[in-house]
Amino acid sequence: MSVPDLVVAGGGIVGLTTALVAARRGLRVTIVDQPRAGAASRAAAGLLAPSLGDASPEVRAAGIAAREYYPAFLDQLLARAEITVPSDRDGIIELASSSQAVDALFASAPPTAERLDARALAALEPALAHHAGALLHPLDGAVDNVTLMNALDVAVARQSRIARMTDEVASFDARGNLPGFRSRGGTRYAGQRLLVANGAWAGSLPGIPHPLPVRPVRGQLMRLEGRAIRHVTYAAGGGYLVPRGNSLVVGATSEEAGLDPSTTPRGLKDLRAIAARIIPVLAHAPMLEHWAGLRPMASDGLPIVGADPELPALSYACGFSRNGILLAPWMAEQLLPVLMGGSLPDVLAPFSVARFTRS
Ligand SMILES: Cc1cc2nc3c(=O)[nH]c(=O)nc-3n(C[C@H](O)[C@H](O)[C@H](O)COP(=O)(O)OP(=O)(O)OC[C@H]3O[C@@H](n4cnc5c(N)ncnc54)[C@H](O)[C@@H]3O)c2cc1C
Repeated sequence: MSVPDLVVAGGGIVGLTTALVAARRGLRVTIVDQPRAGAASRAAAGLLAPSLGDASPEVRAAGIAAREYYPAFLDQLLARAEITVPSDRDGIIELASSSQAVDALFASAPPTAERLDARALAALEPALAHHAGALLHPLDGAVDNVTLMNALDVAVARQSRIARMTDEVASFDARGNLPGFRSRGGTRYAGQRLLVANGAWAGSLPGIPHPLPVRPVRGQLMRLEGRAIRHVTYAAGGGYLVPRGNSLVVGATSEEAGLDPSTTPRGLKDLRAIAARIIPVLAHAPMLEHWAGLRPMASDGLPIVGADPELPALSYACGFSRNGILLAPWMAEQLLPVLMGGSLPDVLAPFSVARFTRS
């Protein structure tokens, strides 16, 4: 069998979108993925929210570019997988605890933000009528990331230039003519180029020249029956509600729990409190399910992408932290030149692996 152009370790949203982009450009790709409890891409809440938080201008610009790329990405996926992935761009509501807090949020928000006083908020979402006010980020939204991952699985299976292996990468091995990933069972997956994209586990892959500062940060979520609101809504003290079908996803905790992907009584209690803070009757809404996922958190919270400076055949796409669903499809397109032997595009400079490999 001929040697693939690219071997990808990890089959989450980052690995799959990168493999699809590379295959579309004619590269032969092997994905080596061992499904693990706690993998982030199916566990996530699916917010497409570059307007939230206090990002630097370059990072915010990348998030906005990623959000704007989403409709074209979902159209391509529909063409390849024949699966419509539910998504919305109805805007995200960011609640404030007082009218002064609305002013403070507004002062530091992106220019697209709209200020909603209590009356305007109640008109938009009657279930939020008791809140003092909010911002509306009108271009943000959400995607159903579970359906999205199902569609990516189908698109990958239909792409003849991609081979997908269910196997556990145990180490990176630079010896020999070509570098490779070695599996626990001893199989060596050699390729012209290799990509580390195994999410929260990327920080502990033996053999890579530069160990990456990526750690798991657990997030617990629950889904409650009923859909009292239409908009994704962020609570003033943290946490959010995401409409999904006839239910609301409540997220999320943020915990240092190693690689433990369990939910806990404490976590579920905290989620219930978030839901009730946003809409009091949700204190008693039936819970349909609960789960947890492991965010692949880089030490500075930003993705880590690009080729290893000492070993250009090895690249990284990991540490997507809290925004991997938003960023991965766009970043896969930007990363393609690197996977074809070129340099990192300027738009990816804030995320370059070089910020951690400089001695
Ligand atoms: C609770 C929670 C809520 C989130 N909400 C959002 C949100 O609203 N919006 C947003 O944009 N992002 C969100 N995120 C972040 C987003 O989910 C992640 O950034 C993104 O999914 C990371 O994708 P990934 O492909 O790097 O990792 P993963 O999806 O974890 O995939 C890694 C893959 O590699 C496999 N693997 C691991 N080790 C090995 C190995 N040694 N050998 C072979 N395979 C291996 C795993 O099994 C898995 O299949 C959330 C995350 C969590 C946990």
